[in-house]
Amino acid sequence: MRLLGAGVLPGMVSTILITHLHSDHITDLNDLVTTRWVMMPVNIPLKVVGPTGTRQVVDAMLNMLTLDQGYRHAHHEDLRANGPLTVDVVEVGAGESFSIGEVTVSTHATDHRPVDPSIGYRIEHDGKVAALAGDTIPCPGLDDLCQNADVYVQTVIRDDQVKQLASLLPNSQRFLDILDYHSTVSQAGQTAARNNVKTLMLTHCVPAVQPGQEDDWIGAAREHFSGNIVLGPDLTFAEV
Ligand SMILES: [Zn+2]
Ligand SMILES: [Zn+2]
Repeated sequence: MRLLGAGVLPGMVSTILITHLHSDHITDLNDLVTTRWVMMPVNIPLKVVGPTGTRQVVDAMLNMLTLDQGYRHAHHEDLRANGPLTVDVVEVGAGESFSIGEVTVSTHATDHRPVDPSIGYRIEHDGKVAALAGDTIPCPGLDDLCQNADVYVQTVIRDDQVKQLASLLPNSQRFLDILDYHSTVSQAGQTAARNNVKTLMLTHCVPAVQPGQEDDWIGAAREHFSGNIVLGPDLTFAEV
């Protein structure tokens, strides 16, 4: 849904990069895979790049879609002629690099334990660098990932607000546990400053940013980082 909102049709996507296999990062993959397969005139498998375990997730997802595939094959003769829905899974480890078209991608170890392995992607083209960190606490691999990046995208939480909210919840410890393995906004600011990035983009904000609180969120990173800071809800663009 967000890709369409950004003007990207499923068929325009050749490759998906997955940082880790938490449900909130992967459970809409099946929609993209199916819609892309149905909409494309030719059957070019989507490439899904991710850490070890990605193949297990994709295989189970394709299994879930077996009935749907049968309905669509039964309905569309030309789709049937295109053959089965397949996905090209590439499992990568930290330290590997590969190309997508003219873009070079390198992978770096992040720390989201007990989610292990988790990786971030450093995407380079024409001297420009975008660093996609995913969920992680500060760690040496994260520094390698975003060193001198033009844009460093970091998923963040507000530890102060999480603690406040937790005091209202019956199972507060389970909510507090998320502090163990996400960067806070302050830590994202520190990572950005330490690694000389140009733009820090904050995304996957927990708790959700309430209207009017935007400056407060940016301010928490600003205490540590003097570069450009963008609060990045879905459909936010950054030009490099
Ligand atoms: Zn996660
Ligand atoms: Zn997450």
